[in-house]
Amino acid sequence: MSKATIMAVVNQKGGTGKTTTCENLGIGLANEGKRVLLVDTDPQASLTIALGHPRPDELPVTLTDRMAKVIQDQPVEPKEGILSHEEGVDLIPANITLSGMEVALVNAMSRETILRQVLEPLKNQYDFILLDCMPSLGMLTVNALAASDQVLIPVQANYLSAKGLEQLLQTVNKVKRQINPKLKVEGILLTMVDFRTNFAKEISTLIRDTYGSKLKVFEADIPRSVRAAEISAEGVSIFKHDPGGKVADAYRSLTKEVLTNAEKKRKHQLDQLR
Ligand code: ADP
Ligand code: MG
Repeated sequence: MSKATIMAVVNQKGGTGKTTTCENLGIGLANEGKRVLLVDTDPQASLTIALGHPRPDELPVTLTDRMAKVIQDQPVEPKEGILSHEEGVDLIPANITLSGMEVALVNAMSRETILRQVLEPLKNQYDFILLDCMPSLGMLTVNALAASDQVLIPVQANYLSAKGLEQLLQTVNKVKRQINPKLKVEGILLTMVDFRTNFAKEISTLIRDTYGSKLKVFEADIPRSVRAAEISAEGVSIFKHDPGGKVADAYRSLTKEVLTNAEKKRKHQLDQLR
């Protein structure tokens, strides 16, 4: 059986749509019949909350415990700390204890690859593992990049920081060179696009012109809509909350793009084996 594709959803800026994208791309992939694990790697636990756990600090087992066991070389039960969501995805939740883990990592052996070791035994059970990253380029984000095959970068169209993106790409390249040679930027995703303004359209064009030759910019732009902002309190995805809306449409298109690219890659790998 094939192993999971691991994708980190990363941007060191907060509020760019990382968590919303993780949730809805993940559930979008599950709706297409894929086995999906979502991993909350942010001590703020927004993804955990959005998936129906409003008080993450009361969860008995989280990502922190799995990482601690890897650091201490202790065995982990296969299902330990994995929650299942009604829309067909699994979740390794986070809570505030993960911020202590970020500190503990500094002195751990193989500190950049603890998360990779956490995910290794789970790769056979899933088609996609999506990592929701925190808004920084610290140890937890480096761990996410070291564990991943692909990076998806949500960018809030109106607040593109070219400098921020440069810095992020430098970190990705450094992890690629030093720790994880297979790491690739899958694409930039424009989020919270306000299609009513010409400005948003200009930004969208500008980003495609500037980065389109070097990096893929997903064709699906995610529109700004209050419907998307509502879901974190509902514990369900946009597909359940507003299935006929434009945000659901956009995340469906993104899901198709991700699947098409994965299929292309698989064919390419098969061709190389022949
Ligand atoms: P990040 O994880 O990068 O911090 P979030 O996904 O949490 O970003 O999104 C930041 C805020 O914007 C949240 O309050 C979220 O509900 C809201 N939001 C996300 N996507 C959209 C969208 N397409 N339209 C409107 N609001 C959105
Ligand atoms: Mg977030």
